[in-house]
Amino acid sequence: MRVLVVEDDQSLGVFLRKGLMLEGHEVEWVGDGDAALEMAAQQAPDLMVLDLGLPRRDGTEVLEAMRRDFPSTAVLVLTGRSQVQERVRCLDLGADDFVLKPFSFHELMARCRALLRRREHFADPVLRFGGVEMNRMERTVNYEGVPIDLTAKEFTLMEFLMLRRGVCSSRAELLSQVWHSTPAAGTNIIDVYVTYLRRKLAASHPEDESGGSVIETVRGSGYRLRDKRRIPRFEQPSTQVKATQEDVQAAAELARGA
Ligand code: CA
Repeated sequence: MRVLVVEDDQSLGVFLRKGLMLEGHEVEWVGDGDAALEMAAQQAPDLMVLDLGLPRRDGTEVLEAMRRDFPSTAVLVLTGRSQVQERVRCLDLGADDFVLKPFSFHELMARCRALLRRREHFADPVLRFGGVEMNRMERTVNYEGVPIDLTAKEFTLMEFLMLRRGVCSSRAELLSQVWHSTPAAGTNIIDVYVTYLRRKLAASHPEDESGGSVIETVRGSGYRLRDKRRIPRFEQPSTQVKATQEDVQAAAELARGA
């Protein structure tokens, strides 16, 4: 599952990222509220672990925006604010759970697991990537808001590429996964179908035909979707911040493996 950690304290952020990765999740970590929403648009996380005290945009504001724009992402709020009012406000804003700092790493992981399990039952049927929105339940696709009519095979091919989210798929992989066939049968059919898809995507916006470049050819390898809005992977908190006493305490507890 995809998890987005929003935490401005670097040691805590690194620790949470590592811990969640060890649980087998795909984890991104950002250090401020603005980056959180940008990354959410890009990563479409299943779970957001959200610190409330954040630079640039407060955690409650991020929570509000998440509920409005990404209703299917579970949000676990991480807070040092012990006031009942603050907790009530978070729940009113739609937080799925919260954990008070300092917290036990094991408890946090258990709560993340519980939220992700719940999330699995209500998986969002909509995939979004590179301006393409695909509803797997209704079998509809649109590019930048314009519906595109796809045949069953075109839909399956596009769906496979959408699920890979920008990772390159080889022709052999596409043949076996989409056509249930082997390379011995020839891979030309893939190039033909990619051409069909590109034409339809381009035709949806005839003024610039931008849709035509959504499916990228990776020379010698295969195909992948291009996310033109891709922002550089976040490695360092983008804002200089001082850890609060609570953050230090929480990180220390994490380090002890409490
Ligand atoms: Ca903080």
